[in-house]
Amino acid sequence: LSELRGKHVTVAGLGVSGLPAAKVLHGLGAHVTVVNDGADERARAQVAELEALGVTVRLGDGTASDSGSAAGLPEGTELIVTAPGWKPDKPLFAAAGRAGVPVWGDVELAWRLRGPDAAPWLAVTGTNGKTTTVQMLASILRAAGLRTAAVGNIGVSLLDAVLGEEKYDVLAVELSSYQLHWAPSLRAHSAAVLNLAPDHLDWHGSMEAYAADKGRIYEGNRVACVYNVADKATEDLVREADVEEGCRAIGFTLGTPAPSQLGVVEGILVDRAFVEDRQKNAQELAEVSDVNPPAPHNIANALAAAALARAFGVSAAAVRDGLRAFTPDAHRIAHVADVDGVAYVDDSKATNTHAAEASLAAYESIVWIAGGLAKGATFDELVAGAAKRLRGAVLIGADRALIREALARHAPEVPVVDLDRTDTGAMLQAVQEAQRLARPGDTVLLAPACASMDMFTNYNKRGDAFAEAVRELGA
Ligand code: ADP
Repeated sequence: LSELRGKHVTVAGLGVSGLPAAKVLHGLGAHVTVVNDGADERARAQVAELEALGVTVRLGDGTASDSGSAAGLPEGTELIVTAPGWKPDKPLFAAAGRAGVPVWGDVELAWRLRGPDAAPWLAVTGTNGKTTTVQMLASILRAAGLRTAAVGNIGVSLLDAVLGEEKYDVLAVELSSYQLHWAPSLRAHSAAVLNLAPDHLDWHGSMEAYAADKGRIYEGNRVACVYNVADKATEDLVREADVEEGCRAIGFTLGTPAPSQLGVVEGILVDRAFVEDRQKNAQELAEVSDVNPPAPHNIANALAAAALARAFGVSAAAVRDGLRAFTPDAHRIAHVADVDGVAYVDDSKATNTHAAEASLAAYESIVWIAGGLAKGATFDELVAGAAKRLRGAVLIGADRALIREALARHAPEVPVVDLDRTDTGAMLQAVQEAQRLARPGDTVLLAPACASMDMFTNYNKRGDAFAEAVRELGA
């Protein structure tokens, strides 16, 4: 993109998106300055790498009041490329607004850098199920013989997919609400919003702002806007979007599909939106048992993936083969072990209440391990909905009091163990306490409904700690 040559570009944030963005921009001949809040060990290694290239790096002192912009907008900045996680209310962005400097996220950068005959994007967002759906979609596209990759928040980075050697026919792109916020000119071939539940509200400021950022994924869609029939908010976003002429609204439902929908009829996934045979009004795609695991929320994910693939012209047989070939990632309702007749299940990826609700709904008698960083969420609805299936609860992490209070309000008879420790041994104790509360036939379920970063590096580490603790019980 020659317009970047010689431009003064400020990259906000190091890390997984900032470092590659800075390198790419530098390679295109831009004058790059990187600003970052403080520097941990990993950041220091990145700083050294960038400085060796001749990129200027400015580090804040890492305190809460420091916004990586303590010194304001770097002199002469013509464009900011930000890490998606940076909050829009940072002083740096206010200064950019005043100066009329545009702000792009990593997705916007990739979108702008893609070549003239670049692969179209099939994009997926939603509060929960994004990764699973994008991986199912990539599996289906692969089964159709297309060159593809699952990219975005997962797997191959978008910049690599767009600029790398590898050639793709189509990309299955996972997009977070943060990334969408900073991607104003993105135009997908087709896109899906899987569901909308309160999450990251501390970042976006309000549910309305969060929904509006998610809804950006539909802007300019060419073929299909895929929405969840059971989640009216997603349909509203389609209605509000400005799309290309001829672009269709396609619903998915766990019930019987209406025309222009995909759904389930007697255990068969059925398409009534893209039917090849004009004599028929529905096309059978796959059996529910082809979906792994065949839990309701996951069948919804499979239908959304199928809708996007069908919008791209993929055959019914490829949908079935792709779903059969798919296996879910770790820490997503993963069965770890049975110990003394009690099942131990790791759904560490349930980092918000909506995800936890899906896994709590999948079991009958549960000892629930929950807690962590609530990110502005409330727990009344979740706890009230699960109350009659709870044998007990073990609470961990910074915001556990919020869950304890919700349990006291909606499930006063459920025994609760409140663990007031955040050291690395806390998970072992939590699992031991859960074992004491459980009876044969119960499920001990790690579905924290919270982010992990108060106690762990990420949800993977939290799930690993759980699995490790379960192994110690069994040993
Ligand atoms: P994301 O990438 O959006 O975080 P994942 O596919 O990694 O989504 O799944 C995240 C969590 O949400 C998992 O714990 C899973 O059990 C739950 N989940 C997956 N799909 C759905 C869905 N459609 N609705 C509700 N919860 C879901």
